Amino acid sequence: MPPAPQGRSGPGIVLPDGIRPGDGRFGCGPSKVRPEAVASLAERAGDWMGTSHRQKPVKEVVGRLKAGLASLFSLPDGHEVALGNGGATAFWDAATFSLVEAHSQHLAFGEFSSKFAAACASAPHLDAADTVESPAGTAPAFSPAPGIDAYCHPHNETSTGVMVRPRRPEGADHAALVLIDATSGAGGLRFEPSEVDAYYFAPQKCFASDGGLWLALLSPAALERIGRLSGSRWVPASIDLSIALDNSRLDQTYNTPALATLWLTLQQVEWINGNGGLEWAASRSDRSADILYGWAEGSSYATPFVEKPDERSRVVGTIDLDDSVPADQVNAVLRANGIVDTDGYRKLGRNQLRVGMFPAVDPDDVEALTRCIDHIVERL
Ligand SMILES: *Cc1c(COP(=O)(O)O)cnc(C)c1O
Repeated sequence: MPPAPQGRSGPGIVLPDGIRPGDGRFGCGPSKVRPEAVASLAERAGDWMGTSHRQKPVKEVVGRLKAGLASLFSLPDGHEVALGNGGATAFWDAATFSLVEAHSQHLAFGEFSSKFAAACASAPHLDAADTVESPAGTAPAFSPAPGIDAYCHPHNETSTGVMVRPRRPEGADHAALVLIDATSGAGGLRFEPSEVDAYYFAPQKCFASDGGLWLALLSPAALERIGRLSGSRWVPASIDLSIALDNSRLDQTYNTPALATLWLTLQQVEWINGNGGLEWAASRSDRSADILYGWAEGSSYATPFVEKPDERSRVVGTIDLDDSVPADQVNAVLRANGIVDTDGYRKLGRNQLRVGMFPAVDPDDVEALTRCIDHIVERL
């Protein structure tokens, strides 16, 4: 149960106990970590935290994590799971060295997709990157051309709540790679591994863990590219994917990982697998999304921000509010009542709520959140 309201922020509306969610964390990263996973970490505090990542217990967990991800995503033979430090942002830099050969094309339709496009655009060893843009709340499409060796987009643009199904672009060069930033999508959205060469993510979203790590599912073509590029150009060691792969194959990371992050990620992967795998997790997020968008569509003051229903993210919901209902005030009251991180993405600058609907979030809590918002808006 979220704590009772504190302090004097907001108009002092107290939400009745009967309508509050059981857990008040709706952030889009870091996002809700399941209490059972934290409890298991606490239980292992004495023989896990503060032990060497070069010894068997940690290597066993890394091995279980790799196997659990391969099973969760039904990875075909020849694909590998790699991991390293620095989160998705570091993986972008790594990709500019180890995955993009010379010329990339990017779908840029929000903060995260634009950042990777910018990383490739400014890399002096690459040709000028192509960027296909579209306004916030929509998704652009690739315009394949000869010579483009990497096609890049996020599975889910976390800043706007737009999702795009990963697919090999028609007309792309045979050898072109598809690189998907799945940071907020992996583990909550369905996808077909054969359509993607690198499906990479950090675990603080659907994997209900802490940040600092990246994980990547790599196809044989991606593995070949990594091997070839590592011998042909200078690559800083901490972001060299061939070094990361060598270490991942030994169930290690190149430098010291956050042990709590590894442990919590494993708990979430095994929790999802134990409940039925990706289809189960995606269905759970579907239930939350149906509740949230259904509520907004029936509301007199709220509307789903993303117009096309099939582009509306099932894991990050963005809801515009009528100008007469200031989202900042709604968020302040929610926060004062222990319901946190429902704020829209700051740089979008809209009168908007954004709701994390990752698998760890209970769909009943999303329903409770909508009741709380209605309760607040009636009293503002
Ligand atoms: C959160 C997020 C990132 C950034 O992840 P870090 O681990 O903070 O680097 C990148 N891409 C997407 C789509 C995200 O949601």
